[in-house]
Amino acid sequence: MTEINKPNLAGMGRDRLRSLFKDMGEKSFRADQVLKWIHQRGVVDVDVMTDISKSLREKLKQDTVIALPDVVADYPSNDGCHKWLIEVASGSRVEMVFIPEAGRGTLCISSQAGCSLDCSFCATGKQGFNSNLTVAEIIGQLWWANNKLGGFGAKIERPVSNVVMMGMGEPLLNFDNVLEAVNLMMDDCAYGLSKRKVTISTSGVVPAIRKLSEYTDASLAISLHAPNDKLRSEIMPINKRYPIAELLDAVKGYMSSLPDKRVPVIEYTLIAGVNDHRQHARDLATLLVDFPCKINLIPFNPFSLSDYRRPSKTAISNFRQILQDADYTVTVRTTRADDIGGACGQLVGAVQDNTRRSDRHRQKAAEAAGKAFTSTDNLAVSADRL
Ligand code: SAH
Ligand code: SF4
Repeated sequence: MTEINKPNLAGMGRDRLRSLFKDMGEKSFRADQVLKWIHQRGVVDVDVMTDISKSLREKLKQDTVIALPDVVADYPSNDGCHKWLIEVASGSRVEMVFIPEAGRGTLCISSQAGCSLDCSFCATGKQGFNSNLTVAEIIGQLWWANNKLGGFGAKIERPVSNVVMMGMGEPLLNFDNVLEAVNLMMDDCAYGLSKRKVTISTSGVVPAIRKLSEYTDASLAISLHAPNDKLRSEIMPINKRYPIAELLDAVKGYMSSLPDKRVPVIEYTLIAGVNDHRQHARDLATLLVDFPCKINLIPFNPFSLSDYRRPSKTAISNFRQILQDADYTVTVRTTRADDIGGACGQLVGAVQDNTRRSDRHRQKAAEAAGKAFTSTDNLAVSADRL
């Protein structure tokens, strides 16, 4: 058996780990012990796992591996945020961002190298798509954040209290791996995060939302960004396949399957002159009238290759006011980490595009700027800094 074919203990949720131990003729509680060593104490050396017998440790060393992705660059932001670049097996690099706030620390995690959905306002989408991340590459981001921020030694509180799947990629197009990683985040033998504090953000992959409740009870955020199908299809191609009514219906189904009272977050990126008019706010208020939710407005974060602009402060506050007057709970996301290209929609890593979409976007931008296209032109802010 080559190293590559051996089961990776760092990329297995509790069920898979238990059946691995069962197949090895071992008791299933060994799975819990191994999870605690890796994900609570940050240990990746089997020899250190002293509550496991020497003979089993030898067997584990021979038949399994504990492999996490590498952190290849580290960007501290002026505002206390932190961005790390992670190299994944496909050779691409993805990004994760830590955002500390009063009383909580949020880690924004990537699920794919690139994204196939090509929303018009998103730097990740402009890079095309390379690969789905493995479970170890997804949970490895949380492992590394704890490692880098002193979380494994923390006596009282760990620095990462919340995880949002809002980094690169569409989580629900990497369903199995994302769900196994998300459930590990919430597993008491691993990170033990509250289901209210682990959020999957999706652009609206309706069939995946419809089956979500069979696999998890994590929280949900929906990238809506427009109050009607015409505009949403223009800026989010996925809407042509799964229009708004179907999306909201699927989300309602998931929320009603949860035993506790929780509402989804509707994310709405405000782009000047595109979806930020007062009428858009009124239409949004009407659209969501029977849809319990919180609304999170995200002022557009600029990146090279995009001509879109962020609306003025007045336009943002007018939009918010209309929704508040209609009795919605509305927050406006503060832009963080934009000095390191770590704000929403700016994450690009270094994706080895399989789709040729990134070339097309670069060519278009180069033509618009009146210069010759070269395939080495950098895509966006953070890649510019590599
Ligand atoms: N694919 C998932 C999760 C990653 S995107 C999704 O689309 O939900 C995370 C959030 O950042 C989404 O709400 C997305 O719409 C938003 N976003 C993307 N590009 C942005 C930009 N340039 N400025 C502000 N928000 C952006
Ligand atoms: Fe993909 Fe989300 Fe970006 Fe759209 S916004 S291209 S779904 S990562």
